[in-house]
Amino acid sequence: MHHRYPHLLEPLPVAHVTLRNRVLMGSMHVGLEEQFGPLTKMAAYFRVRARHRVGLIVTGGFGPSWEGGVKPFAGRLSNRWEAYKHRVVTDAVHEEGGHIAMQILHAGRYSYHPLAVAPTGQKSPITPFRARGLSRRGVERTINDYVKCAVMAKKAGYDGVEIMGSEGYLINQFIAAKTNHRDDEWGGPFEQRIRFPLEIVRRTRDAVGADFVLVFRLSMLDLVDNGSTWEEVVHLATELERAGVSMINTGIGWHEARVPTIATLVPRAAFTWITARLRDAVSVPLITSNRINMPDTAEAVLARGDADMVSMARPFLADPEWITKAAEGREDEINTCIACNQACLDHVFQNKRASCLVNPFACHEDELVLEPTTAPKRVAVVGAGPAGLAASCSAAERGHEVVLFDASDRIGGQFNMAKRIPGKEEFNETLRYFGRRLELAGVDVRLETRAEVDTLRGFDEVILATGVHPRQLSIPGIDHPKVLSYVDVLARDAEVGQRVAIIGAGGIGFDVAEFLAHSGPSSLEDVDHYLDTWGVDRAYDERGALKEPEVSEPARQVVVCQRSKGKLGAKLGKTTGWIHRASLRKLRVHTMSGVTYDKIDDQGLHVTVGEVPEVLEVDHVIVCAGQVPNRELEDSLKAAGLSVHLIGGADEAAELDAKRAIDQGTRLAATL
Ligand code: FAD
Ligand code: NAP
Ligand code: SF4
Repeated sequence: MHHRYPHLLEPLPVAHVTLRNRVLMGSMHVGLEEQFGPLTKMAAYFRVRARHRVGLIVTGGFGPSWEGGVKPFAGRLSNRWEAYKHRVVTDAVHEEGGHIAMQILHAGRYSYHPLAVAPTGQKSPITPFRARGLSRRGVERTINDYVKCAVMAKKAGYDGVEIMGSEGYLINQFIAAKTNHRDDEWGGPFEQRIRFPLEIVRRTRDAVGADFVLVFRLSMLDLVDNGSTWEEVVHLATELERAGVSMINTGIGWHEARVPTIATLVPRAAFTWITARLRDAVSVPLITSNRINMPDTAEAVLARGDADMVSMARPFLADPEWITKAAEGREDEINTCIACNQACLDHVFQNKRASCLVNPFACHEDELVLEPTTAPKRVAVVGAGPAGLAASCSAAERGHEVVLFDASDRIGGQFNMAKRIPGKEEFNETLRYFGRRLELAGVDVRLETRAEVDTLRGFDEVILATGVHPRQLSIPGIDHPKVLSYVDVLARDAEVGQRVAIIGAGGIGFDVAEFLAHSGPSSLEDVDHYLDTWGVDRAYDERGALKEPEVSEPARQVVVCQRSKGKLGAKLGKTTGWIHRASLRKLRVHTMSGVTYDKIDDQGLHVTVGEVPEVLEVDHVIVCAGQVPNRELEDSLKAAGLSVHLIGGADEAAELDAKRAIDQGTRLAATL
């Protein structure tokens, strides 16, 4: 028995297999599913996760038919040729001693194509196409598609399938009265609405036999109006067990729900209580999920008895070695998923291959590789922000001798400001991770050392990762004492009055508004506070488990302005922008677009909106108007004959984020 994580690392017998531990890698569409021919990239991606002991891997969703795909030409499994493509994946996982299930996902009215089908003709609020209502024959055909898909998955070598019955996809659409308005035997009362999932499970079990793992992902909390009641969830769970599922996985929230369920501001393990409630009702193992990202959290969830297994998806993008590190007592080496969604979900929503902000190797396993160098060099890296950290570690791991300079007394650059924003405390983990990685890689870190040309002579390569300077504005009165920059507020703890205007509505403008207006605990510290703020009803009194969100008094009156017209924060993350906007609305932050800044004086910030002049009577004006590159050393270093490389903000400040900084630093180091 493992002393530190006895519950987490305990094997789990399920159907015909024994899983190595209690960790399931949750299903995640990453964009490797659509590769033409054998799925070699997916195989490389899962192989390393299996090698590092993931108990059960679940693939991204594959459609059981063309019409069920999430988008045109989405990965699907409906015939022998498609099954053949998967062999390379299942072989890779089995060679590493792992187990793998394929997720069957029929998107129903969430399909992003004109052939979408649903229980009843309808358009979802998050897709542009109106789905066609399935005929009775269509329902039968769709059930058969699921069964055939599972049979093909077995032929392809999978140990099981996960039937996606939550998150508002087709099966969930049949279950909920919200989306099922049929008046035949597949609609009407609850018992008839759940016939669809039960028939799928029953017929699939009959077709695949006992030696196959059947996981059903059940929506525990729909978080939409007219969703299921708790009694219905329990009833369905018991019926699913009778129909032959091997395990039940937890689903939280439909995609159209207006409650953040996996973003960084969601507390760790914020939803395991709902899985715990189901434990007495069924005897099959239960899997719980959402924002479990570190071994202590996972162990505590299992030790409390909330579930039999934990599901983590994004944490395995961030660190494929997560379980090995936990098992070997090297938790401080774990590259923690900070739940930013920037390189995973945001990419998928933009039809790009997923990766990970903190781990650019994710989903590029056979493309981005750090080969040991045959010609070790002396490398200086100037700047220990995300770009410089990634470059230093990667270069040193390849065998170069690396010295990392930073003028500040700590590593992290702007991440030291980001981590102070309420709800972004997870960013601390990235700095902990890089701090440890620098040690292990043997990087010579010189803090409180501003690098100059003389410091850098004698190095074979100099990497300038010196970041950015805040953009200086030329509004009349910009030197007034009431003007501060975001750096004054977040890094220098400048005193800020009760009434504040923020110039600039990019990521930093939003973060500063949250920092200044937020009151009470950070959402991360208090699950109940988070549930109350977003209107999730633990008591489950109403269908869908929603209640009126609680409003807290803001700490300050804040107004955020931008010059461009249209909605504020339009360039924020695809899957998180709405959360930032909703957060600020809850804090009664006022927003203004189409603003011209006229001047700043004792009265406040003078603006014109349209043709109308207005004075924002504020105590402070905080400038969050973007940044410019800090590459002061470049010319003199080049003049001194040094080989100079620019990365991160020093290279390009426009639309710079940590994703690009870390990716660029890693890729440069891979080529030195
Ligand atoms: P920086 O992080 O700016 O680091 C540059 C480093 O160089 C600094 O430590 C500086 O001290 C050092 N330096 C400069 N000159 C010298 C010299 N001559 N000698 C020695 N050292 C020197 N990005 C995201 O992707 N997601 C987010 O959610 C996010 N939130 C943010 C929130 C806030 C409040 C802020 C301010 C930024 C946020 N960012 C976010 C942006 C992200 O932090 C930056 O994109 C990233 O830090 C840029 O990395 P960098 O390594 O290029 O530069
Ligand atoms: P940004 O996103 O480029 O936003 C800059 C803001 O300043 C814009 O609202 C812009 O709007 C305004 N602005 C630009 N030039 C101006 C000028 N001359 N005068 C007045 N206003 C001006 O930059 P940022 O907010 O500084 O963020 C920097 C980077 O950090 C971003 O690229 C972002 O990706 C990253 N970040 C991300 C997150 C996240 O949650 N993902 C959070 C924080 C930061 P107008 O031009 O319309 O006025
Ligand atoms: Fe986690 Fe962000 Fe990486 Fe996605 S991109 S896996 S959310 S750290």
